[in-house]
Amino acid sequence: MIVKSAEFICSNTQISKLPPPVKAEYAFIGRSNVGKSSLINMLAGKKGLAKTSQTPGKTQLINHFLINDSWYIVDLPGYGYARASKTKKADWNKFIHTYLDKRESLQCVLVLIDSRLEPQKIDLEFCNWLGEKGLSFVLVFTKADKQSSLKTDQNVAQFKKALLQTFDEFPQYFVTSSETQLGHDDILSFISEVNKH
Ligand code: GDP
Repeated sequence: MIVKSAEFICSNTQISKLPPPVKAEYAFIGRSNVGKSSLINMLAGKKGLAKTSQTPGKTQLINHFLINDSWYIVDLPGYGYARASKTKKADWNKFIHTYLDKRESLQCVLVLIDSRLEPQKIDLEFCNWLGEKGLSFVLVFTKADKQSSLKTDQNVAQFKKALLQTFDEFPQYFVTSSETQLGHDDILSFISEVNKH
């Protein structure tokens, strides 16, 4: 798929104010600082579309970006910001879980995982929650340019091992870098395929 247009549509703090659920949505989510904004900008081919390096744990917004006038990239607030208060974390959970659980137009959740790290409890817990809800998701390992491909492979394998303790199958996954564009074509092809159904 070629991205011909990418447009910011809206930022929301309330589920009730989201755009009508008539176009396919792909939700991007991960720990704060995982590289989500950079990945969205890389896929959209537009620097500055999603704001990079925002203070983590700030206002929790769901951002909608319309791609090729036909489907949405949905930028969800990052989780796992250590300094966020308990109340803030609980609010995050409620807000995001409601969106993910109830959004009819949601096609797939792209869970971003930092490829440099060993499996993180919070990422595994989030995947398990998606599994329990029966939500379709893929994994996107980010920042692969920061280390050797061997190291990335090792971390992916470890994540796989950890996830297979609760899942029967390892989900589809992508190894990406916003610096080198690694994964760009594969993710867009994947979305294109899902959009056909
Ligand atoms: P977000 O908080 O998840 O939206 O993360 P950002 O996209 O703002 O990225 C956090 C930091 O990681 C920034 O300093 C980015 O420049 C850096 N970063 C993000 N993706 C990559 C990547 O693929 N490669 C490298 N080398 N740095 C990245």
